[in-house]
Amino acid sequence: MRRVRVLFAIGMIGTIGTMGWFVAATSAIAAESVTAPSASPASDARSDERTRMVEEQIAARGVRDPRVLAAMRRVPRHAFVPERWRGDAYADHPLPIGEAQTISQPYIVALMTELAAVAPGARVLEVGTGSGYQAAVLAELGADVYSVEIVEPLARQARARLDRLGYGRVHTRHGDGYQGWLEAAPFAAIVVTAAPPAVPPALLAQLAPGGRLVIPVGSGEQELQVHERTADGIRIRRVTPVRFVPMTGGRS
Ligand code: SAH
Repeated sequence: MRRVRVLFAIGMIGTIGTMGWFVAATSAIAAESVTAPSASPASDARSDERTRMVEEQIAARGVRDPRVLAAMRRVPRHAFVPERWRGDAYADHPLPIGEAQTISQPYIVALMTELAAVAPGARVLEVGTGSGYQAAVLAELGADVYSVEIVEPLARQARARLDRLGYGRVHTRHGDGYQGWLEAAPFAAIVVTAAPPAVPPALLAQLAPGGRLVIPVGSGEQELQVHERTADGIRIRRVTPVRFVPMTGGRS
């Protein structure tokens, strides 16, 4: 219970002060209101819990993009967590997914998705497939998703789960995300869901012009950052303190 409160506090502190102008920047994209194809049913036995999760944990903390909120309402998060944690699937904290890894707190998934500002049809790389949940949320926005996972059993399980749930269009690969996914680059957005001590150069190199890299950085204290490729170079925004599992793999 204590851990839950700490994570909540981290989210709230980060939201104050730093997010204001960014929300303004993304609202233009949100206003397009293009409907992404939905792979999952709009309602199921737990859709009321998802609606509450979106209102109380996500919208209440300042995530505004209606497409992101709709995607979070659609993806059946309970189908991405192990059986024994299903009851907690819509609670305000991360959950174990096996292999000492976790699925992120719903708010953090929504925040990172909003920061990625994904337009329908955009090509997006995720590093750290884990359960496949963040990849599914990105797919619901109509993105062409490429996701890399370094732990083989997790990569295999996520692939099977994504297929079962109708996210067959998400591309997955077992490998080291430090190197990105060269054959599919460049990407309009890259979302990294494990924390490296410093930003991997290959990921910056695979960002399209105008593209955004959303990444937790740090080996002790971590900070969520957005690195945007502008005409003048890389612009860095520091968003909020976070706590992610460390990124493993090669550091070259
Ligand atoms: N996005 C996931 C949560 C990821 S937890 C979800 O929605 O469920 C972080 C994941 O990153 C773990 O599965 C971990 O194995 C993976 N990971 C860590 N280092 C990596 C690397 N170098 N390349 C690819 N995946 C990595």
